[in-house]
Amino acid sequence: MSETSMPPAEAPAGNRHFIRQIIDADLAAGRVSKVVTRFPPEPNGYLHIGHAKAICLDFGMAKEYGGECHLRMDDTNPTREDVEYVEAIQRDVRWLGFDWGENYFHASDYFDEIYAYAIRLIKLGKAYVCHLSAEEWKDYRGVPEKPGKPSPWRERSVEENLAEFEKMTRGEYDEGAATLRAKVDMASPNMHMRDPVIYRVRKTAHHNTGDKWLVYPMYDFAHPLEDAIEGVTHSICTLEFEVHRPFYDWVIDTLKPASRPHQYEFARLNLTYTVMSKRRLLELVQEKRVNGWDDPRMPTVCGLRRRGFTPESIRNFCEIIGVTKYNSMTDVALLEHVVRADLNKTSPRAMAVMNPLKLVIENYPEHLVENLPAVNNPEDEAAGTRLVPFSRELFIEREDFMEDAPKKFFRLTPGREVRLRWAYVVRCVGCEKDADGNVSVVRCVYDPETRGGNTPDGRKVKATIHWVSAAHAVPAEVRLYDRLFVKEDPTDVPEGGDWRDNLNPDSLKTATALVEPSLADVPAGARFQFERIGYFCADPDSAPGAPVFNRTVTLKDSKKF
Ligand code: ATP
Ligand code: MG
Repeated sequence: MSETSMPPAEAPAGNRHFIRQIIDADLAAGRVSKVVTRFPPEPNGYLHIGHAKAICLDFGMAKEYGGECHLRMDDTNPTREDVEYVEAIQRDVRWLGFDWGENYFHASDYFDEIYAYAIRLIKLGKAYVCHLSAEEWKDYRGVPEKPGKPSPWRERSVEENLAEFEKMTRGEYDEGAATLRAKVDMASPNMHMRDPVIYRVRKTAHHNTGDKWLVYPMYDFAHPLEDAIEGVTHSICTLEFEVHRPFYDWVIDTLKPASRPHQYEFARLNLTYTVMSKRRLLELVQEKRVNGWDDPRMPTVCGLRRRGFTPESIRNFCEIIGVTKYNSMTDVALLEHVVRADLNKTSPRAMAVMNPLKLVIENYPEHLVENLPAVNNPEDEAAGTRLVPFSRELFIEREDFMEDAPKKFFRLTPGREVRLRWAYVVRCVGCEKDADGNVSVVRCVYDPETRGGNTPDGRKVKATIHWVSAAHAVPAEVRLYDRLFVKEDPTDVPEGGDWRDNLNPDSLKTATALVEPSLADVPAGARFQFERIGYFCADPDSAPGAPVFNRTVTLKDSKKF
């Protein structure tokens, strides 16, 4: 996406993308009375922002049209189900704001029914047991431009196929020695239609069905049947499944289950400076290049949550990017832009000094502490005010003072006035330096008539700076994140290179900030705008009196919108 075409941070109302148009037409024509969708993750990893796009579509459409969306763990592979992944998936879908109600399923719940459909297919003369090895099959299957060769077992009788499939089921064949194939079309230019394998022998126990099965259905056969069994109306998946759709339809048209699902495909989300493949994300975790799945630099839903993203901003992002049928790359700056817009409206303000410089107000009484009201969120009146302690010794940002300032420098310099946010107008009267010549203290006088930052005489004060009271400030660890990769497409590497070479060595910098005392004990997950600095979220590593903050995003867009 080019800089100029960056859309606004709010989703346009009435974006009737093609999935909505299909559902509208189905409802209008009476083909569908209740919209039923499903989200089918394989529980072998954590959900990422790409999955969030699918979730917003699957759950989002069901919600919008008053239907239901099923959460279905796709566990047709008899591998160990990792409870960690299953729980994380459920937690993340809920956090994104969606609910499957009673409709939580496993693909393996349907193994009996799918098996019965396989028998029916054999009886219809539409499936056969084949003994070609995977190697041999490559040769038989051929190339798209030329018809393939039929398997020598293609014309077996129904009785023989039933007996052979029974032998497969009882474990009389080793893995790879026999498969059940759908009898479709060996001349089809679509290779997925050239008698695909629909059942294979796997002598592995399944976490759900134990050692009941020695044969397992293939995804392409199981998925349409799972959808039909659950009464799914709109089975929405990513574009790479488009070439599988003819077989999906063949399964449904041949077996004629009571309910007729349809598959629709959309373009997956790709983000700049981000890897989204589960394998690569797992490698980042296992190789300890990040601190776990929920490292705030990860594009995982749990990583984004820990970083401080709101579910609203992720849903809004998914709506803005829209749903299309062509693959493209989305600028990660757009995601940051959307979260910034949301946080600007919703997050309370607070003062934090990242790079402290002492400021002493010479004419302020030595032991006086005033608790000054500060507006929590100028974008949200209901957020109210809090009290911030003010005293004679403060810390300000080092960058806000310059001894020999150019004319255009409107912040503190000897002789110039600035407004201390929510407090008083102060005038700089000089500074002190340490032995190395670095400024160590800025000296000011304040105008007691300007409490709250107003100037009753109407004089102009150009700059307002933030501060914390030296005696009351709390040290906080701040984790400043940058993009995890230095390249737009991290997988773009020269010959012999590795995508890991594109990791950004500066993706995490840790610093100590001084924050106002109201932040000493904030709960993990609390989000703030540190005035003039950026958006921050309290990390679970925080302890009472020792807060830790993750920077969600900087205050301003790095691009012009
Ligand atoms: P695998 O590479 O292991 O197949 P996957 O990313 O497809 O992984 P699944 O758990 O199978 O992961 O995904 C669940 C659903 O999320 C699928 O319907 C898939 O199409 C969708 N999905 C996955 N990645 C993206 C993405 N980047 N954008 C949109 N949808 C996605
Ligand atoms: Mg998948």
